[in-house]
Amino acid sequence: MNILVVDATHLYRDILQQALSHYADVRVELALSQQEARELVARETFHFFVISGQLPDGDGIELAKTLRSEGKAKVEPIVLLTSSASSGMAAQAVLSGVTELFRKQDIDELLRFMRHYVELLQPMRCRILYVEDARDQRALLETQLRAWGMTVDAFASADEAWLAFEANDYDLVLCDVVLGGHMTGTRLINRIRRLPLPKGGTPVLAVTAFDNPLRRIELFQLGVDDYVQKPILAEEIRARLHNLLSRKRAVERSEMLLAATALGVVVVGPDGIIVSMDDNSVEMFRPRTQTMRGQPLSVLLPEERNPDLLGQLMQRVMAGERISGLKAMGLNGEGEYFPVELTMVEISSGDGVRHFALLARDITEEQALATYLTRASEAAERAEQMKTAFLANMSHEIRTPLNAVIGMAHVLSRTDLDDAQKKYVGHIDAAGQHLLGLITNVLDLSKIEAGRLELESIPVAVENIVCEVLSMIADQAAEKGLEVRIGELDSPSGLVGDPVRLRQALLNYVSNAIKFTAEGSIDVRVVAQEVSDDAALLRFEVADTGIGISAAAMDEIFSAFRQADNSTTRRYGGSGLGLAITRQVAELMGGEAGVSSTLGEGSLFWFTVLLKRGATLAARQVTPLPSTESAEVVLARDYAGFRCLLVEDEIVNRQVAEAILTRINCEIDTANDGREAIDMARRNDYALILMDMLMPNMGGLEAAQGIRLLPGCEKVPIIALTANAFAYEKQRCLDAGMNDFVSKPIRPEVLFETMLRCLAG
Ligand code: ADP
Repeated sequence: MNILVVDATHLYRDILQQALSHYADVRVELALSQQEARELVARETFHFFVISGQLPDGDGIELAKTLRSEGKAKVEPIVLLTSSASSGMAAQAVLSGVTELFRKQDIDELLRFMRHYVELLQPMRCRILYVEDARDQRALLETQLRAWGMTVDAFASADEAWLAFEANDYDLVLCDVVLGGHMTGTRLINRIRRLPLPKGGTPVLAVTAFDNPLRRIELFQLGVDDYVQKPILAEEIRARLHNLLSRKRAVERSEMLLAATALGVVVVGPDGIIVSMDDNSVEMFRPRTQTMRGQPLSVLLPEERNPDLLGQLMQRVMAGERISGLKAMGLNGEGEYFPVELTMVEISSGDGVRHFALLARDITEEQALATYLTRASEAAERAEQMKTAFLANMSHEIRTPLNAVIGMAHVLSRTDLDDAQKKYVGHIDAAGQHLLGLITNVLDLSKIEAGRLELESIPVAVENIVCEVLSMIADQAAEKGLEVRIGELDSPSGLVGDPVRLRQALLNYVSNAIKFTAEGSIDVRVVAQEVSDDAALLRFEVADTGIGISAAAMDEIFSAFRQADNSTTRRYGGSGLGLAITRQVAELMGGEAGVSSTLGEGSLFWFTVLLKRGATLAARQVTPLPSTESAEVVLARDYAGFRCLLVEDEIVNRQVAEAILTRINCEIDTANDGREAIDMARRNDYALILMDMLMPNMGGLEAAQGIRLLPGCEKVPIIALTANAFAYEKQRCLDAGMNDFVSKPIRPEVLFETMLRCLAG
């Protein structure tokens, strides 16, 4: 295809060349003046002209007129490019044979316009059925059609053509209307139209010698899409064929897209009767009969599995609604039900009857996957619940006897013992404490890993935490002759977080530092790295002068059950859980944990936590524990002789608790179960009640609820004693009306602090 640009500059030629460069056969020539243009068209044929309104030797309209009159551009488009187009000029241009006027700034629009023409002249790849009984005319047009790139099956009679049409797939039918033989062209056209889709929709271009418009109306009534009149103009027939084919291609493209979506399309009439089914829907429903045309939709979507569905569906689409995402049960030809998702819209049929397209999507696999996922997550949830229940049980089972061991060792240590006996009791106590530490750690880690560790959000006094930790390890440090120093303690006021977990994280570091340091010192410091009005990022550091850690082991030791090397357990004991817990706690609090160390010289363990700010901490804030009086001293002095009810069924546990309580000079009554407890609370006036949870006859929760109903007992402090260390247990105690909670084995200082808090509050 040759394009001629007539303009005094190179600009438009270059733009067109660039824009049309991907069409192999498009050539853009430039003429700088009218004169040059005349010379060029005398030598070559051009298929498209772009002429500038203003040329050095005249105006563009003039040139257009000449091209048309001299036959250099008969049907070829001539486009005039102007800087400004007045309506007068436009009219004159059209009269002079200009096809279209474009302003120079609308070059994009011009390019789109040109591309359309270029497409028109591209080879037409299609298969066409051509029927013409006049041999010469047939031969002539056949040659022309082939020259345009078409595959042509040409026939002289409608009978032959009909057989060929039935046997093959054609993109288009080109048919003379008047044919010799017993079947006319019009009959052939009408027969084609009466076929079911998609064959019945094949475009038909009629060729006719009628110049009577009434006969042409008849042709359209028979179902032709377009017609050309004899004698045939090649350009005209080409343009008409092109239009019909591009419309057919557009329909095919959307059908292909639909087929690719695996949506089955069933077309139904207003009565719910099936008109047609596409390949996808046939594959989906696998009908037993050749055609489902004329059958009710309920064959595919049976009423018994879709009660009231079809009636409502038809009613809604008839009212103009577009339905989508409707779930239903489809039935295939083999009698199997399968889940489908339906969309239904009205489509125009063109014949005045309302038609509706039902788009069905087979969702069997999707549903199976959803069911599988639900089941899997339910199973995981169940397993998680079982694990939690198991841990709670184990915790209870191990802590109860351990409580007895540690408690009795405690009681025993306060009796008159000789040195050897004292040593044995010390061993029992140490072993018990060790086991208790281990089970607490294992439980903590499982809770963290199961995402069940709920962090508290209560006021945090960092100084208190550091002092508490140091007082806990003071004896061990002194025993080994290690100096423990508090360095910087830089923390902003009003912090909120979980002090118990913070203390645990720091204690793990400090106890390790003592464990792995033979001589020297341990330095603890806290630095506020970032502080805003809402939050503070704190860094806790514990530095020691101990054995240090090799670079290779540094990555490992923060994983659960990992130690620096195999000799560690033998030499130092331990389970490898402490650091894992510290890291997890730090991460739960929005921070991280790490270490830097030199083997043989010492280590610096650190963790960071992000704490919220906002609590108004009054006096509690800076009161390091070692300087305050212990709860035991305060209870013994300020609350001496108060009456306490101890409810506990296990004799050993009762003795342990009694032994602890004797230290604070209180008067103790005991009850063996919940019923006895209620009875005694009714008859006596207690300042405080300690309540075991699991007891025969009546458990702690029920007893607490019972006691709360007694006149005068609405406020008496009740503290739960339980071996179940989980947070929800604490919640259950509080829900039952108890005031606080102490976990077993009872640590005297914790019990005393809790009692003091309840009595003072
Ligand atoms: P455990 O101390 O019970 O073995 P941890 O998780 O607390 O478990 O520590 C894991 C390992 O990290 C220890 O076994 C030890 O090898 C190493 N480690 C921890 N702290 C120190 C330290 N301060 N100095 C040297 N090695 C340490």
